[in-house]
Amino acid sequence: MIPFDYQRASSPEDAIHAGSARGAKFLGGGTNLIDLMKDRVENPTTLVDINHLQLAQVTPVDGGGVMIGALVRNSDLANNATIRKDYPLLSEALLSGASPQLRNMATTGGNLLQRTRCYYFMDTGFPACNKRKPGSGCAAIEGYNRIHAILGQSKECIATNPSDMNVAMAALGATVHVQGPKSKRTIAFSDFHRLPGTTPQIETNLKADELITAVELPPAKFAPNSSYLKVRDRQSYAFALVSIAAGLEMSSGTIKSSGLALGGVALKPWRSPQAEQMMVGASPSPELFKKVAEQMLTGAHGYEYNNFKIALAKQNIVRALNTAAQGRRA
Ligand code: SF4
Repeated sequence: MIPFDYQRASSPEDAIHAGSARGAKFLGGGTNLIDLMKDRVENPTTLVDINHLQLAQVTPVDGGGVMIGALVRNSDLANNATIRKDYPLLSEALLSGASPQLRNMATTGGNLLQRTRCYYFMDTGFPACNKRKPGSGCAAIEGYNRIHAILGQSKECIATNPSDMNVAMAALGATVHVQGPKSKRTIAFSDFHRLPGTTPQIETNLKADELITAVELPPAKFAPNSSYLKVRDRQSYAFALVSIAAGLEMSSGTIKSSGLALGGVALKPWRSPQAEQMMVGASPSPELFKKVAEQMLTGAHGYEYNNFKIALAKQNIVRALNTAAQGRRA
């Protein structure tokens, strides 16, 4: 690990001031950042410890919804009574990720910024990685690309976002609250993460001097009819090959609205407004969900080792939507 400075922030303003220094990074749970520092993938000059800020509460929002502080640990969020009752999709997604020990440390804000598990990104022994070193190439395109993207990729990068939480947050229509040196703002979840394009090294629309303070969930509407389905190489402590967060708002046997997002297939949770619109006003059926799955995968293309993900995603979208439509048992 390369030597770095350490500062403990006592307020968001203090953190933002210290974090705006060139090469500084915020330290929350550190479950991803510290690993990458040990491997010299991340080399911050300063770690600004934000763990003592008052950002670890889950609070109701006037008019419905909840505000989740950026420092709420993944375990605490998954087991929060309101989240379990009103947003079980999020609780399931969180509990499907990592291990209990990691979930006890990992924070909501840190999970939003979780970096890709692309082997070539995580190992500096591979020289070609545009994300780690812009302009160096992409070793994954011609390499072993089993875990890589089938949607939204570019010639420069085919990495995926590894988070389960992000997929559920996307389907639930969350909003990210951030604070900069002069003002606060909100970012719609669908605008928070970026596709790689020609700048795969820029992963979010968060500015360098901004701090994530909270994630807001809108009033709950999918609780009785929702499902998080994760397909992976082993049943525990593995990242998704494909995951599906599905929520249906039902009214008298028809679908009033839906939230559907795919994980493990792109550098951000993948949504399709057209696919979601196809379900509005319709009765749930496997035939409808097959059409939705086809729409979700429009434009998908794979590589030598991950072509299977296209069929896998389609089949499991249908499974997840069928499960959501059947409803949760009390
Ligand atoms: Fe790097 Fe992206 Fe290519 Fe992986 S897929 S080697 S992260 S450029």
